[in-house]
Amino acid sequence: MMHQMRAEYGAGGRSDGVRLWHVVRGAEQVAMCGRELEAGAPVRDVVDWGKTPELCCHTCGAYYLRESPYLGAEHR
Ligand SMILES: [Zn+2]
Repeated sequence: MMHQMRAEYGAGGRSDGVRLWHVVRGAEQVAMCGRELEAGAPVRDVVDWGKTPELCCHTCGAYYLRESPYLGAEHR
């Protein structure tokens, strides 16, 4: 199953910039932690998990690692 990182904006919305990165399955709009994310929010390749200047959602990280124990394996 493919995963993607999807951004959560700060309290001010889009103009506030990215507050946190979540993981979604495929093109879903609901993060693995249950948080609903904006349709137009930026996405990133999941191999960038943990490498962004912004924080990554701990809950999503835990779920994602459980589904993909070998980080990046689905991209090889
Ligand atoms: Zn999350």
